[in-house]
Amino acid sequence: MKILLPTSTAGSLPKPSWLAQPETLWSPWKLQNEELVLGKKDALRLSLDDQLRAGIDIVSDGEQTRQHFVTTFIEHLSGVDFEKRETVRIRNRYDASVPTVVGAVARQKPVFVEDAKYLRKLTNKPIKWALPGPMTMIDTLYDDHYKSREKLAWEFAKILNQEAKELEAAGVDIIQFDEPAFNVFFDEVNDWGIAALERAVEGLKCETAVHICYGYGIKANTDWKKTLGSEWRQYEEAFPKLQTSNIDIISLECHNSRVPMDLLELIRGKKVMVGAIDVATNTVETPEEVASTLRKALQFVDADKLYPSTNCGMAPLSRQIAQGKLNALSAGAELVRKELQA
Ligand SMILES: [Zn+2]
Repeated sequence: MKILLPTSTAGSLPKPSWLAQPETLWSPWKLQNEELVLGKKDALRLSLDDQLRAGIDIVSDGEQTRQHFVTTFIEHLSGVDFEKRETVRIRNRYDASVPTVVGAVARQKPVFVEDAKYLRKLTNKPIKWALPGPMTMIDTLYDDHYKSREKLAWEFAKILNQEAKELEAAGVDIIQFDEPAFNVFFDEVNDWGIAALERAVEGLKCETAVHICYGYGIKANTDWKKTLGSEWRQYEEAFPKLQTSNIDIISLECHNSRVPMDLLELIRGKKVMVGAIDVATNTVETPEEVASTLRKALQFVDADKLYPSTNCGMAPLSRQIAQGKLNALSAGAELVRKELQA
């Protein structure tokens, strides 16, 4: 990235009200069939426009192409029965009714590749595309076939690698894997989670990122955060192994969190997407607040490796607030850019 402190978002942005109910997480589509295909494209253009107006440097589809960051991908795979549902505990935090793995999982056709080609045609800016990570995928399913979390994760990693290679060929500059599960299952992360992620990025020439956060601002997550004490040291568990991994960029939650900033020292040398926008509050950050978080991160991240970003996705926020936060991110990054260049 030639520009200093290139800004981006960690993930989703609000959807227009004609596509899905706003301010609602995982809100169902309001359109169907061909109307839905066109509606998602229109929403992608709007979301891109919002990012460009705010001066965001690395843009995305704002996840207008998916209802849920994990299940929309899984819906396109064979081997998973969406009618056969079981209640499981997601990330040890909340119960959800999830589909069942009933046979060998496989990708019959590309999932997001056409959407990525469309985004590529619309802009010359670097583009980032998010996919779910293997460990977070298995944690969102009931497995009645492999009976092994590791084995299922490995199968998903191979599928993700097929998709990632086609996204790269479509012109995606950064492929990001969302792995909030890395903040929960520490033994598995080190035993096979990071290895599965490396399988997913095998052979890619574009940049790769892993996003590890404390989740959307939903009640189950905010309640969980209250139990984590005064210092959130979860990142400490995965960082040493991530530092030596093939993943180029680590995307993290920082602003308004209790993550001790000095943990970033553990991934020194990696590029870091520093969350400088809190997605769990409707209060729009001031540029100075954003700049303050970035300055703290600069103690542990070299300036040429710092990517200002949001803590997580902004789908549950109103469009107005999300736009305010995008503007604040840009303005805050610009303040620090000027200081660094002075
Ligand atoms: Zn997140």
